[in-house]
Formats: sequence, structure tokens, C-alpha cells
Amino acid sequence: MAEVMEKHGKVNLLGMSRQQLEAFFTEIGEKPFRASQLLKWVHQQGVTRFEDMTNMSKALRSKLEAEVSLEVPEVVLDKVSADGTRKWVMQMAGGSRIETVFIPENERGTLCVSSQIGCSLDCSFCSTGKQGFNRNLSSAEIIGQLWVAARALGHAADSKKRAITNVVFMGMGEPLMNFDNVVSACSLMMDDFAYGLSKRRVTISTAGLVPALDRLGEVTDVSLAISLHAPNDTLRDVLVPLNRKYPISELMRASRDYLGKLPDNHRKATVEYTLIEGVNDQPEHARELVEVLRDLPCKVNLIPFNPFPLSDYRRPSRNAVMRFHRVLAEAGYITTIRTTRGDDIDAACGQLVGQVEDRTRRQARYINAVNISEGETRL
Ligand code: SAH
Repeated sequence: MAEVMEKHGKVNLLGMSRQQLEAFFTEIGEKPFRASQLLKWVHQQGVTRFEDMTNMSKALRSKLEAEVSLEVPEVVLDKVSADGTRKWVMQMAGGSRIETVFIPENERGTLCVSSQIGCSLDCSFCSTGKQGFNRNLSSAEIIGQLWVAARALGHAADSKKRAITNVVFMGMGEPLMNFDNVVSACSLMMDDFAYGLSKRRVTISTAGLVPALDRLGEVTDVSLAISLHAPNDTLRDVLVPLNRKYPISELMRASRDYLGKLPDNHRKATVEYTLIEGVNDQPEHARELVEVLRDLPCKVNLIPFNPFPLSDYRRPSRNAVMRFHRVLAEAGYITTIRTTRGDDIDAACGQLVGQVEDRTRRQARYINAVNISEGETRL
């Protein structure tokens, strides 16, 4: 319960799954069906004042008002890109800020949510990591991002009229390092009394925290994306330092096991591969990747690197991307190339930085380096 305590010291009901709400209502002497009523008010109607929940008795409303809270994140910036991508910057308790991005496409609308303030993994090509790490987001702060976006975009209960059809945990942070809160938030995303998204359309993306991935299949059946980025351990150790602890073979084994636990056995994982010029974008890397993926039912998503200040990495040419794509496609993999969206509002992959009150020393080192290099270019 500590995770859902908010600044007034009251329990915040926003992040509670139906199960947790049922337990809560039972504990205060109410019937469990109150949980579904509350979910509908909050997540479908957008109502956060207990006094407006008119199908509950006055006595119950007063009790809730006195004893618990419903707090949603505070939006400090709401920006729309030329291509329709929209980004919200939200203020979190403690002073840090996180980012959430909505990407509209023809048939779908994807919300990219953050799971942590900053990230502790420090992948060499990701700017979020350079901001250091502050803390995990509570389940209320995670589902709160969907609440804010759903209000802004209109989220109909009717699945055919929805603006938000998909949610991906590809914003700031490593979702599996914040296991319980991410799982609770996922359960709300998929609950018919809350957002009613299909389990195929909620995706947890991980850099490869193997022990957590091994537990994930026991508690949820959302879709899985793995951030691979390299076809061998020597290279992946450099790009994704977590690989030194959990090498590729372990990650492949855990991903396969996760898919094996899902009730419908035709699901595939998504393998994310950020293409960096001269680092991991050569045809031999693609051929090695084909071998590595051999035993994993998957599709591949290629992400041309998005540059950020003080990164020496570069995006490969279109030709190099197409060449890499061809090797995978010819080996039979469904392979998509992620188009860069929202880079004019710094909303593209790897550009989400928020404003992290860093608890590590990484941010200070990075910011010093950026200032020095900007000084140099000005001279
Ligand atoms: N920690 C999780 C969730 C973050 S997902 C994970 O690693 O999967 C963010 C995705 O964007 C990851 O696949 C990441 O590797 C990719 N990414 C990060 N920085 C990038 C950059 N500069 N250019 C392109 N893609 C990047």
C-alpha cells in the first residue's frame, strides 16, 4: 500500500486495480461491486470528485472524501507536433517531470508511457539514461498518464471509436525494474470497466531484466517487446550494459518461455533494434541476428537512431537501413522500420528526458560535458 500513498498521506485510488479496489471496499464494509462503479467514474467518465459519484450513497461519498484521495498527474506542457504526435510533460511529486507521447496512425493511436523517473540502465545510445535515475513511478502515476491522454483525446468505451487503441511501455524507464506498479497499471489498461484495451495492444518493452521476465508470465499476459540492438554479446555489452548480467542467450530463453506461458500460443514478441551507423548496421550483423532469433517467434522493428546532444552515434543512411531490412525480410521475418515521429517536439524514441532530479551522479557528468561542448561550438 505504501506505493499508492500520495502527498497528503492518503491512499490514492487512481492506481488501484479492480482486485485491489475490491479488497479496499470490503475492508471498509462495502460490497465489492463498488470497485467497478468507481473504475467507471474515474477511468471512463474522468470524474475525480467523490461527491460527483451519484450512484454511491452520500455517506459513502463523505467517507471516501475524508479517508482516501483521487489524484491525477499535473500537466505542465502539452505540445502537438507538425505530424500530429502529441507530448505531455507531467509534474510528479518530488519535483521531477516525466513525458508521455501519443502517436496517431491510420488505424490506431499509440500512447507511449513512462514507468520510471529517468532510468538506471544507461544504454549508450539512449538520452533518457543520461538523465540519471530518481525513482519508480507509482501505479497511479503510470495509469495517470493514460487518464490524462484519454481526457485530452476522448476515450470512448466503444472500442471502434477510441483515439487510444494501444499502449506501449517505451517511454522513460525500464518497466520490469518497477514490476508491481507496472503490472497493476496494465491490469487497469485491460479492465473493461477502465480502459478495456486488448492484451495484444498493451506492450511491455524491456532491455532484458531476465528474472523479472521469468515472473511476468505468472501475473499478466500483455505483449512483449525486447530491446535487443545487437546480435552478439560483445557488442550488446557495450550498447546495453545490462547484458553483462543477462546475456543474449538468457534473454532469448526467457522471452520464449514468456510466450509459452500465454494462453493463445500464436503470439510473437517484437524485437526492437536501433540501427546505429557503423556500429550494428552492417549486413553481417543482420545475418547474425537472423541466427540469434531462430528459436524465438518474433517480428522485428528497426529503429534508425535518433541523435541527441553529445552523442557520437549517427543514424545510418536510408540505403543502409534498407539493406539491413532486406536480409531479415528474405530470412522470413516480418520487419518494420519505425518512422521518426514527433522529433520537432523532442518526442522521438530516445529523446524523452523529462526533468529528472537525479540521484546518481550521471546527469551532472553529462550536463557538464554538454555545456563544455556547446561552449566550444560557440567560440
Ligand atoms: N527500458 C525499456 C523501455 C524503453 S523503450 C527498453 O529498453 O525496452 C525505448 C525504446 O527506444 C527502446 O527500444 C530503445 O532502445 C529505443 N531508443 C532509445 N534511444 C534511442 C535513440 N536515441 N534512437 C532510437 N531509438 C532509441
